[in-house]
Amino acid sequence: MQKLLISACLVGEKCNYKGQGKYCPKIEELREHYDLVLFCPEMEGGLKCPRNPSEIKGDQVIMKDGTIVTRQFELGANKALALCKYLGITKAVLKENSPSCGTHRIHNGYFMDRLIAGMGVTAKLLKSKGIEVYSEDEIDKLIPKKSKEKSTE
Ligand code: SF4
Repeated sequence: MQKLLISACLVGEKCNYKGQGKYCPKIEELREHYDLVLFCPEMEGGLKCPRNPSEIKGDQVIMKDGTIVTRQFELGANKALALCKYLGITKAVLKENSPSCGTHRIHNGYFMDRLIAGMGVTAKLLKSKGIEVYSEDEIDKLIPKKSKEKSTE
């Protein structure tokens, strides 16, 4: 079965900044077709759980208390890429809106609960290296369509 990288929180791992998971029921359909490889870039980058929320501002990643955590985010992203290369993974499903995993949207960098178009650090790196990245809202794109039954008419 083909391996697929997935944000660990989408599978229910309690690894987000609040110490909670973000279980997505759709992953049960993915499991039927892929061998899921769980990964949390922020935890792998050395951040604690729970932790202050972070947002991308310019070319830095900053926690709400002002701590710069760009290095940790980049470490997590590089580990994700290394894992994909090692396991031959070419596709990833990543949690939307996250400063690590967001594939289309991230917060605006001012902790105002406002979203803007953009990608998280891990999503951006993986995509730049040719790995297909999808949000949890795009899981249907990864489920093979059932072969059409031949018409007897
Ligand atoms: Fe989920 Fe990604 Fe945030 Fe980890 S870094 S909690 S996998 S969204």
